Amino acid sequence: MLPVVALVGRPNVGKSTLFNYLTRSKDALVADFPGLTRDRKYGQARRGEKPFLLVDTGGIVEEACDETGRKTAEGIDEAAMRQVDLALEEADLVLFLVDAREGLNASDEAIARRLRRIAKPILLVANKIDGINASLATAEFHALALGDPLWLAAAHGTGADKLLGEIEALL
Ligand code: GDP
Ligand code: MG
Repeated sequence: MLPVVALVGRPNVGKSTLFNYLTRSKDALVADFPGLTRDRKYGQARRGEKPFLLVDTGGIVEEACDETGRKTAEGIDEAAMRQVDLALEEADLVLFLVDAREGLNASDEAIARRLRRIAKPILLVANKIDGINASLATAEFHALALGDPLWLAAAHGTGADKLLGEIEALL
C-alpha cells in the first residue's frame, strides 16, 4: 500500500485542481485500491520522485446541501469536519488548502481547530497566489497556527515542485 496524502479544505479552494495536476488526470481517475471506500476520489501522484496516493475528500463537503439543494453554511462545516475525520483515519499526511485570494474565513478556522488536535503531519497550502502579492495575501494564515503557508497556484503548477519536496520529506 502506498502512503496516503489527503486534501482537505472548504469548497472552491482548488483541491480538485491540485488533485488533477498531481495525478495528471483530467477526470476523476479512480483506481481500484482495496481497503479504500468510494465517497472519496483517489489517484496516484505521478509528478514527484516518490509515488503516493492522493485523496480528494472535497465531494463530501460539496454534497452538504439542504433539501432545496442549496448549500447551508452549517452543512458545509459539518461536512468539512467529517472530511477531516475521514482524512485522518487513512492519511499519512494532510494537505490543508486555503484560498489566498479570498483570505481566511470561519470554515478555514473550524477545519484548522480540528486539524491542530491530531498527531499527523499537516502542510498548510495557500492556493491561487497567481497575479497577487503572495507574501501579503498569505500572512493572515499564520493565525491558523499550522506553520508557514506554502505558496501555490495549482491551476498553473506554480509552487508545485516545492510542495512535492515538502510532501516527500514527510512521507
Ligand atoms: P475545490 O472545490 O476545492 O475542489 O476547488 P476546484 O479545484 O474545483 O477550484 C475552484 C475554482 O478555483 C475553479 O474555478 C478553479 O479554476 C479555480 N482555481 C484553482 N486553482 C487556482 C489557481 O491556482 N489560481 C486561480 N486563479 N484559480 C484557481
Ligand atoms: Mg473539488
